[in-house]
Amino acid sequence: MRDRQALLHGAGGNTRLRDAHVAVVGAGGLGAPIVQTLAHLGVGEITVVDPDVVEESNRSRIVGARPADAGDPERTPDEDGVVPAAWAEAIDGCGTPKAEVLGRVVSDIDPSIYYHGIYEEVQAPGALEQVVAADVIVTGTDTATSRRFVSEAAQQYLRPLFNAGTDIDVDDDAGLRSIATSFQVSGANRACLDCLDAINEDRIDAEGEDEDNLEYGLDLVAGEQPSVITINQEPVQRLTFALHRFLTGLLADRHGFQTGTYSATSDRLVSDAEAAPDCQFCNGAFTATGDRGVPIAKTGLYRTTPSTVETGSVAELGLDAAVEKEPAKDKAEPEGDEPSNEHSLLARIKSTVARYIPQL
Ligand SMILES: [Zn+2]
Repeated sequence: MRDRQALLHGAGGNTRLRDAHVAVVGAGGLGAPIVQTLAHLGVGEITVVDPDVVEESNRSRIVGARPADAGDPERTPDEDGVVPAAWAEAIDGCGTPKAEVLGRVVSDIDPSIYYHGIYEEVQAPGALEQVVAADVIVTGTDTATSRRFVSEAAQQYLRPLFNAGTDIDVDDDAGLRSIATSFQVSGANRACLDCLDAINEDRIDAEGEDEDNLEYGLDLVAGEQPSVITINQEPVQRLTFALHRFLTGLLADRHGFQTGTYSATSDRLVSDAEAAPDCQFCNGAFTATGDRGVPIAKTGLYRTTPSTVETGSVAELGLDAAVEKEPAKDKAEPEGDEPSNEHSLLARIKSTVARYIPQL
């Protein structure tokens, strides 16, 4: 099926893609087309985390969403049981969870891909463990709070983090002020998203004060932001091509990716800032500590069999219990004696870097 792309990066490239596990946090206008592209490329295992459901207001940007997925705002959760009861009351209508829609998309493209759709926020108990178990993390979330949460985790667990974002500034009186899109590579041995100016402090403050956030603990932002599929596609294209290169080693002799913030209004790409020497996340005590030394292991319990798609809350998928269970042997773990916690983590990190290319 992927013979023509093998002509580009070799059969080994296809194998590397097949062996890769990518976690995508955020299944909206950025995450959805990223997941679709990863499935077409043949990434063998994909985890998607997003607490949101499809609505008429976002259906124009969710790849694969159908009219029926937007649900009926008049229905209650009890009538159709589509939305998990634990958080249904916090959500308008009863649309299909975005993580479930993307499971359908992935399955339609390639039913042999392992897909795990978690419809909870990434801060929910058990969700982060699934994210840091992946080889690479991608963020395309709506909120700055969740981006910082994942960025910190990527630093702690030394996972490569590919981040995409958009920022459209429209003023009621002055009209369109700016359109900016951003793509950064962060995480393992790189500057954190705070240092790369990829996290807006004002938005974190606003999100923290939002009543819905306080009441439900959900990623809901006050006010509506402009969001358009064509603008989303700019960082999605840069991110997916960079991830393709990273996973396969394509053009490995050329250094770096086209990261930074692109201003569509001035047609200029501004390079990323550098890591701050005193940053507590990427140059401080938190770096590479993992979960205070607890080994990160894939449990195997949450794996689906090929041709199936598994979606649900962390509890419904048994992930909360899974993280406590006996860890399955990691596919990247070397043979031999039981490694210490620290060595187990380092082994995973080294294997990730060695398996791909030393670009980080
Ligand atoms: Zn930093």
